[in-house]
Amino acid sequence: MEEMKITSRILDGIAIAGEIKAEVGAEVKALAARGITPGLAVILVGEVPASQIYVRSKVKTCGELGIYSEMLTPPESITTNEMLTLVAELNARDDIDGILIQLPLPKHVNTKRLLEAVSPDKDVDGFHPVNVGRLQSAQPGLAPCTPAGIMEVLRRSDLPVAGQNAVVVGRSDIVGKPAAMMLLNSSATVTICHSKTADLAKFTRAADILVAAIGRPGFVTAEMVRPGATLIDVGINRITDADEVEEFFPGDADRAATFARRGSVVVGDIHPAAFASAGAYTPVPGGVGALTIAMLMQNTVTAAKLRRGLSTEKK
Ligand code: NAP
Repeated sequence: MEEMKITSRILDGIAIAGEIKAEVGAEVKALAARGITPGLAVILVGEVPASQIYVRSKVKTCGELGIYSEMLTPPESITTNEMLTLVAELNARDDIDGILIQLPLPKHVNTKRLLEAVSPDKDVDGFHPVNVGRLQSAQPGLAPCTPAGIMEVLRRSDLPVAGQNAVVVGRSDIVGKPAAMMLLNSSATVTICHSKTADLAKFTRAADILVAAIGRPGFVTAEMVRPGATLIDVGINRITDADEVEEFFPGDADRAATFARRGSVVVGDIHPAAFASAGAYTPVPGGVGALTIAMLMQNTVTAAKLRRGLSTEKK
């Protein structure tokens, strides 16, 4: 009998993010016609290089889409109380629709208290307990950007979710838990796995949709996934060891060139060898990572509309 060959479909996060940004840009134009400019305030504490890069691209994307943005850069020494004052000022401002506190914060700052101090109506990261509760009870609100991006990838790629076995590896408040809740709200049968899960492969092999949000390079191997499954790789791990690069990307001239130029390459939480038998998968880079900022822009416009009692329904 002839062997069945699976052609894996690449889910192009950059293209999907482009679609979303174009739609958000159109919404911003329509709001401008009514004299409304959505505004995002980003608080970046101290000098964390990775955070600086993220914040810069968020501010740049705001500019491209016509969203007003403001960057606040208090020093590393700022106290929780001073941060609370800053957040209270932003909560009170009418020209600010979204407030984003770039994480991680310095250890001496109480992150939970701050996230709870952001007005739920301006909580464009979707981390406030009120928005967590709204997501849990499937009410409209502001939902975390990375998992919202995962759902957009599935929806815009016409991949079914209802009735599918979805397995989420990782239970962080930022990715794993909200991703599981969104999949459940879309009627998938959801399993959440984590570091204490016994026989992880038993669960991952049963997945029609596998979401990996672990933070360990290539952790989910080819043997752990069912051929034909949809693989959503949230992981962004930088590897700096030449042998590791060769292990993950054997004979990949492009990756080798990137490594020679930058001294590192990025790999997801799913081993690249697993993608060969997938039905569809998000590459790293260029998959889920590309969606997060697009969803932040969407949340900012949604917040601007909700605060003014305007409809957020999509045509
Ligand atoms: P996190 O807070 O460190 O959570 C990691 C999760 O993985 C935890 O729930 C942990 O389980 C689980 N885990 C760790 N080792 C495991 C193992 N051996 N077996 C099974 N589960 C294990 O990480 P995160 O913030 O969710 O981020 C996950 C990955 O996504 C990272 O690579 C991060 O860089 C990336 N990320 C990307 C974006 C984006 O694309 N824009 C956004 C956020 C994060 P326990 O709870 O039991 O410890």
